[in-house]
Order: sequence, then structure tokens, then C-alpha cells
Amino acid sequence: MTLDRLSPGSGLQAFPPPEKWDDWREYDPKEWPRRVEKRYMLVPTICFNCEAACGLLAYVDKDAMRVRKFEGNPLHPASRGRNCAKGPATINQIHDPERILYPLRRHGGRGEGRWRRVSWDEVLEEIGGRIRAAFREGRRNEVMYHVGRPGHERTMDRILKAWGIDGHNSHTNVCSSSARLGYALWSGYDRPSPDHANARFILLLSSHLEAGHYFNPHAQRIVEGKLAGAKLAVMDPRLSNTASVADYWLPTYPGSEAAVLLAMANVILQEGRADLAYLERWTNWRHFMADRHPGEALDFGAFVAELKDHYREFTPEMAEAESGVPREKIVAVARLIGAARGAFASHVWRGSASGNLGGWQVSRALQLLTVLTASVGTPGGTAPHGWNKYKPVFWEEPPGQKQWNELLFPREWPLSHYEMSFLLPHFLKEGRGKLDVYFTRVYNPVWTNPDGLTWMEVLKDEALVGLHAALTPIWSETAAFADYVLPMGLAGERHDIQSQETQDGRWVSFRQPVLRAARERMGQSFRFTYEANPGEVWEEDEFWIELSWRIDPDGALGIRRWFESPYRPGEKLTVSDYYRWIFENAVPGLPEAAAAQGLAPLDYMRRQGAFLVARDVHGLQEAPVAVPAGAVKDPVTGLVTAAGKGIGVEIDGRVVAGWPTPSRRLELFSPTLKQWGWPEEALPGYIRSHVHRSALDPAKGEMVLIPTFRLPTLVHTRTGNAKYLNEISHRNPVWVHTQDARRLGLRTGDLVRVTTEIGYFVNRAWVTEAIAPGVVACSHHMGRWRLREEEGSRWAAARVSLEPAQGGGWLMRQRDGVGPFASADPDSLRVWWSDGGVHQNLTFAVHPDPVSGMHCWHQKVVVSRARSEDHYGDVFVDPQRSMEVYREWLGKTRPGPGPGGLRRPLWLDRPLRPAEEMFKA
Ligand code: SF4
Repeated sequence: MTLDRLSPGSGLQAFPPPEKWDDWREYDPKEWPRRVEKRYMLVPTICFNCEAACGLLAYVDKDAMRVRKFEGNPLHPASRGRNCAKGPATINQIHDPERILYPLRRHGGRGEGRWRRVSWDEVLEEIGGRIRAAFREGRRNEVMYHVGRPGHERTMDRILKAWGIDGHNSHTNVCSSSARLGYALWSGYDRPSPDHANARFILLLSSHLEAGHYFNPHAQRIVEGKLAGAKLAVMDPRLSNTASVADYWLPTYPGSEAAVLLAMANVILQEGRADLAYLERWTNWRHFMADRHPGEALDFGAFVAELKDHYREFTPEMAEAESGVPREKIVAVARLIGAARGAFASHVWRGSASGNLGGWQVSRALQLLTVLTASVGTPGGTAPHGWNKYKPVFWEEPPGQKQWNELLFPREWPLSHYEMSFLLPHFLKEGRGKLDVYFTRVYNPVWTNPDGLTWMEVLKDEALVGLHAALTPIWSETAAFADYVLPMGLAGERHDIQSQETQDGRWVSFRQPVLRAARERMGQSFRFTYEANPGEVWEEDEFWIELSWRIDPDGALGIRRWFESPYRPGEKLTVSDYYRWIFENAVPGLPEAAAAQGLAPLDYMRRQGAFLVARDVHGLQEAPVAVPAGAVKDPVTGLVTAAGKGIGVEIDGRVVAGWPTPSRRLELFSPTLKQWGWPEEALPGYIRSHVHRSALDPAKGEMVLIPTFRLPTLVHTRTGNAKYLNEISHRNPVWVHTQDARRLGLRTGDLVRVTTEIGYFVNRAWVTEAIAPGVVACSHHMGRWRLREEEGSRWAAARVSLEPAQGGGWLMRQRDGVGPFASADPDSLRVWWSDGGVHQNLTFAVHPDPVSGMHCWHQKVVVSRARSEDHYGDVFVDPQRSMEVYREWLGKTRPGPGPGGLRRPLWLDRPLRPAEEMFKA
């Protein structure tokens, strides 16, 4: 007998050739040394354990019709067959004996832990009826969908617009909205897309190589760039694995990053290393000069002189004083960035931008370096994300909703980037509104967000939240406070389209339920995906289609029509219809590529799992624009408008696309910030963080806590039921510098109490020189907890009690750590680790940045030896104080409406953009 051979290549580059994916044979490693052959069907899908959307190949055992393992999909243009540890661990998640397999309805009080199994029909009938009543009674803003991990490119936008509600809420304001706002103000695009592979210099703020945004696809390309000679610098107070392989580690004091970046900009400007021709061509310097010198002739030379003057205060000495990074190193890195002209790749996510008050100015300052070196959208540079991310269109687009939901975009934050999601319970408590139907989807705010006790309080209050449906594959701290727990598919159990800006190119990938796809390849057919999935685990696409028909059974509400097939008018849309239409009509080049293999586009995607739409995407701002009759050109700025809207900019006698900003140029100077109440921040600047040294009292022993860093092996709470990953990583000690440890009398393993402004947590210390002095850090993935035995993952979560503490407040105390347990998986009796780490987010008050609305994660803390009454894992919170802190931060805002009586600038997008007239307050 001969087994199938791997395709050409060697070692980790070898994959089963696609022509053998229908019937791949290999020996079962568990049977070694016996040679037992296994026959598999290999079905591509997409990983769901972080946002990168790497390709996976499910190995479906053709005898048992069971998934045996997940490996990388070599045909995926971004991940190219490679995955991080979390990709293959998908197998743990789908075989987790504790996962939720059937829809559940609570009986008894909300949060009391009593559940009964119900049918999907019962679920649809109650929720559909309730939403229908709300719509008929004009209470559209009382229906809200709140997503943790998105995906489903544009699908939810289409659904919610079809429902006519302003009900999209996200997790982005605890994740990336500050960084996004900084980018959006520059170019209208809110994310960077670095071309690491072709860069000459790479600057990472935070640990992207090991755990950052688009982790695995970026990591591959950073390493490629390094192998080709690029230098790598990492700005991070923590010596992450990424920093440890960098050419330059810049351990900045938290919040000082913008000062260092602007000092680099100053060096580049003063030493004549900036690309002035690019600045003249593409920045809105004319607007700046007209604003500063009204009535005077516009002179680029004068602008450059003024720019140099403006940034002159950011000397390397000043940056060293702020950051603690030696001035020589700042200058050396600045010169290398200047020398990389045209090929400077960079990224900032979470870390500095999400930790600090004014974090949005960090990404603006970083983008200033990209602009000064003319590296915007060049080979080896940093492109706007929209150039490299594919977005589907549909056969029919519902119009923008005629609603504006103040629970999402309140007047205090007219420039907030994404919804003010983590303040939802605070707004509800203040009486700003209520919810009748609240969906949470792969979202665990009780655990993930700051001030989780306020979330618990509000979720328990049926007057504020009428019905809470948690769409989740597994139990979570939030699902415990739901009315319905609705099991939705994991990575290989549902349909979805994903695309991310991981590289110089644009791709689309297709997630599919692998057991359904395998059975369909064998000739079976299914009405719903839950018929092929484990238990009755469903998928969102089909759930939303069915729910929409229940909301509007006769079409009278005008909703049903959006959920009818584009191929069979009047009939219900199916998932095959939906993806078939997109792949046939909305992915350039795909129909031709499929035809070349004798396949329909949908079948091609079912077999390959991904498609490269474009490569070498550069210079799109120079694309010519057709100018319609009646268009008007501004003689000074070159801006070309039609029907009052900017369509391009004239440069050298040609009208080109430019950028989606009001000036169609890169807005170095932001008239938007000036007009909307922040004139002092109109240029990329440096805002002193809420944890700036001047805000700390050394006499009280105050330090800064970084609570945001990721481990490469875990993601937030989603990996809680992956046994392999929890075996690798199951504690999150507090990193303390040796100097601080000496001062505090601490050794590694000692219990410490970390006191925040609303409470404290008790953890163990890890004494190390891999953190800047005066700074402590604690990874945020761990410290999962369950109030009841059945409502949480025993691979990761400690059993806790939560009770009123003496003297006020609440004390959470671990009753049982992690340990062996009996289940259908024999490995559960082999759990050897006893720790699940320590939770910290409950002890954080909300810190909404007054401009971006981002929660500013870093904390001013006092670290001390634990007291005699303290136990490992204790968490104490004073919810009274948390509302006071919320109001203190509310006081920092500069509320709208803005110019023209608008709630928000028309040009700044929103995730679910309402009809234009709704922008008017
Ligand atoms: S980086 Fe890892 S977790 Fe993220 S999608 Fe890729 S394989 Fe999955």
C-alpha cells in the first residue's frame, strides 16, 4: 500500500495537493507504530480565533464524518498555509465537551442560572414577535445588536439597514477606535496596511510580530522584510518577544509615544530628510496656511518653515525626558526612518493608542512619519486599509436608516470613532433610553469591558434590558445574564466572508461549515446548517434570515423583501443564494478563475477557500476621475466638487481621486478638529496621558499598570475552551521591574495587591528587567470566572463567589481553581494545571477619551504586598466610585452639535451609516 504524497516542498512547506483533497489518505499518528490508514476529505474554512482570518483546512474523517484536525490552507493568500497555535486549536473548541449545543431559555430570575432547552422555532417566534411589536410601535432604537468579534463583511450592515434600525454596536471602543480616529482624520481611512515584506524600515508600536493585529500574516511578512534587510524597531514599555528580536527596542514610558514620534519627525524635518515634493503635492498645507495667515499669498516654503518651527520643541532631549528612551536612540531611529524614504512600514494597534488619554494623536504622529517619508501606499510603505481590504456588494442595498441612536452616538462625543459601546450600561442607568431586545454576539462585556459590575447590574434589570439574547458558541460571564443563550457555530461551523488588509494585495476568503460542505460534496442536502453541525448549533446567516421573515411574515413592514432570493423572486434567501450572488457578481476576476477550472464561482470558493483579488495595489490616489458637467474647481486648493461633494482634486492639470477627506488631500492640518472644538489639536500633537508622570504621586507609590498586552496563545475570552492553549498559558502574573521590586520588598511569586481607583485585585509578582521601571503589566486574557458550576469553561475558569464586602463594595473570591473534571473528553481528567490567572477588568473604571471615545485602558495603580486577609485572585470593586469616575471623564468632553447643527461631521463615516438627514441634530 502506498499513501498519498505531499505536494512539492519540504518540511512545513509541504501540503496535500488540492487535487487530492476529496480523498486524502494518511496514517493515523495515534495508532503508531501500527500503520492504520485514514481517509479524509479536506475542506477549507477560516480561523475565528482572532481578526486575521487565516485559512484553515478541516480534515474530515470520511468514515466517522467527524473533523479530526485543522491545519493551514496553503491556498489562502494571506496566511499561505501557516497558522499560529490558536488556528489548529479550533479542534479543541468544536470538540469541547462543555460547549452549548442547543438553544436555552432561562426560567427563574435573570442571572439565577436556571435554564431549559427550547426549539429554534420557539426562539424565533418570541424574539421575532417582540421585535415586530417594537417596530410597529415606533421603538426601533430599542433593538440593538452588539458584536464582539465581527466578520461577516457588510452582512450585518445589510440586515440592520433592512430592519431600519440604528442598532449596530461593537467592541471597537475598547479595542482600536483611538488609533482609527487618528488615521481617519489624516486620510478618511481608519486603519494602516503596512507592506512589511518590502519595507526598508519597520516600526511597530506594541508587539505585532507575536500577538498584534493580523498577527500571523503580518509576522510572516515582517520576518520576510527582515530577511531582505529591513531594520525593525519596536516601541513598547515591555520587552515582548517582538521587541526581543528587534534591531531597536524603545521602551517608552506609557503615553509618551507621540512625543518620541514627533521628535523623530523633528529630526527628519530639521535634517532635510523629509520628502518636501510629496508634502507639497499631497498634504493640505494650503488649508493650513489659509487658516493661519488669512488673506496672504500661499507659499509652500513658508509652510515648511512654519512646520519646522511648530515641531522644534520636540527635541530628542524633550522626548527622552518624557519617555525614558535615550536621545541617541531616538535620533538613530529617526535617521533610519528618513533613509527608508518611500518604504517605511508601521503599525500601531492597542498598546499606546488604546491605553492613553489622547491615544488618537499617537497614530496621527506615526502617520506624520509615513507622510514625511512619502511612504503612503507605496511598495514597502503603509497603505490605507481600504486599498487592501475587499468589501462585498449586494444585489440590492437597503437605504440608510432614518434613525439616530443616542445610546450609540451621544452628543458629548461628536467625533467618537465607532459607538460608545462600553458606556451602554452607564447611559441606561442615567435614563438615556432602554432596550427591548438586546443581542450580544461573541461578546462578553461583563468580563472584557471595564466596570463589569455595572454591566451585571444593568443586564439583570429587566426594566432597562427587556430581553437579552446571547449568540455564543460557549458559556461566558455575559451569557449567564441572558434570557436566551443561542449556540452559534465556531470557525468551521458557519458561512462568512472575510478579508483583511494584511499585505500589499487584496483577497477574499470564505468560511464555511465544513461538515455540511463535506456532506454536500458527497451528495447530501440540508435545509439548515444546524442539521449538519453538532447538536443544534446554528449559524448567524440563516438565523438572521429566518428571524427577519418572522419579524415581517407578510412583508407589510418592508423588511422581508430584503431577505428574498435574487434568483427566485419572492422565495426565501438561502446561504447558497447569498454567497453565490456575491462570488458570481462582486469579486473581480473570480468567475474567470473558476471557469478556468471548470467550476462555478461558489464551488471554486467552497474548494479553495480564498481568492486573491489584486496584487501590487499602489498609488490609487493618482487614479484619474471623470469630471461630470457642472463640477466646480476651487482655484486655490484644486478641490473639485460635484453637487456639493468632493470628487477629486486637480494636480498638474489632471483631476485625480486623492483621498476621501474634505480637501481630498492628506489632512496634516485638520479643519475638522478645529471646527469641532479641538483647535489646539489640529496638527499631529502630543497629549499628556492620564497616566503621565505628572499625574502620579510618587509619595503614594503610584505606578502605571499596562493591562492590555496579548499573549500569542490566547485571545480575550474566546480561547477559554481550547484545552491545548490553556495548557500552554494559564497564569498572568504582574510584571514588576527589579528596581520597583526592591523598593516594595517583592520577589517573584509573592502575592501583591494592585489597587486602582475603584478597587483592587490580588495576583502574584513576576520580577523582571523586561519592563520599564515604574511600570507594571498584566496580560488581559486570563482570570476567567464562573459564578455557577455549569456556566463557564472548566479548562480555564475559576469558580468564584461574588458577595457584598464589609464596608461596601463587592468582593469576588476564587473558591476553586482549575482542575481535573469528568467529561466526555478523557483529557479533562488529565488537567494538571490549577491556575486560571487573575481577573483585572472589573477593577477598572471607564475612561472614555473625550475625542475618540476610546476607553483609555492604562491605570494609575498602587502596588503593595498583599495583606493578611488577601487571597490569590481576589477582586474588590466599589461600583459607587465607578459612576463618579465616569462622570469625571464625561466632564472632559466638548459636546456637539457642531458646525451646521450637525451631530457629527458628514465626511467621517459610521459603521452603520444612517441617512444623511439624520446627521442633523
Ligand atoms: S493569527 Fe492565529 S488566531 Fe489569528 S486567524 Fe491566524 S491562525 Fe487564527
